[in-house]
Amino acid sequence: MIDPLTEPTAAETPAPIAADGKTAGERLAAIRHRIARAEKIHHRPAGVTTLIAVSKTFEAEDIAPLIAAGQRVFGENRVQEAKAKWPALMATTPGIELHLIGPLQSNKAREAVELFDAIHSVDREKIAVELARECERQGRRPKLFVQVNTGLEPQKAGIDPREAAAFVARCRGEHGLTIAGLMCIPPAEDAPGPHFALLAKLGREIGVEALSMGMSADFETAVQFGASHVRVGSALFGHR
Ligand SMILES: *Cc1c(COP(=O)(O)O)cnc(C)c1O
Repeated sequence: MIDPLTEPTAAETPAPIAADGKTAGERLAAIRHRIARAEKIHHRPAGVTTLIAVSKTFEAEDIAPLIAAGQRVFGENRVQEAKAKWPALMATTPGIELHLIGPLQSNKAREAVELFDAIHSVDREKIAVELARECERQGRRPKLFVQVNTGLEPQKAGIDPREAAAFVARCRGEHGLTIAGLMCIPPAEDAPGPHFALLAKLGREIGVEALSMGMSADFETAVQFGASHVRVGSALFGHR
């Protein structure tokens, strides 16, 4: 039994301190501040950028302090891992928005549509077909992003930028999908700006609103080039 005289209340329990000496709430506030400053410097409307807190590899106990600090939008890169962690967290906090930012196998489309509010890795015909089927079957409409391989890296997922418009047209026409936006992961060794600029240009040509781009190392540059969603992991949670 909990003894109210000796057991600390939630307000008295000190927030866990990570290796950098900062609490999750302090790190969240710092990232939010940097996003707001980048929006201001680059003349983007205040608050246009959605911060996705990328919680992959971290446990529920690491995620809870960020939820307590007010963060509601989270990203995971694996369907199975997300299924193991998130239903319990979502049951205790209404209003969580969960994004799948990692590769999707077609045999996981059903579970992905069940669990996620957004999927950033639509990158081939087969996935488009499976997602269309599951959206129809479940009556759910997660926000969909087409992943574009802006660096034409052979090992990386994503549509060739030259084929992105045709692919989005097929998603819309043949598969009846609503495509909300485009997503990219620039090559690690490149300056990210030109990749973000290319994604923004494709987005304008194709006619999509959302751009998912920018991670811990380059989210301010992504804001500069028009990101609607930045995906920040290690700067919020620490090193994986
Ligand atoms: C892990 C991951 C991120 C976050 O990366 P950090 O450098 O830790 O911020 C963003 N996007 C994708 C697709 C990821 O897999």
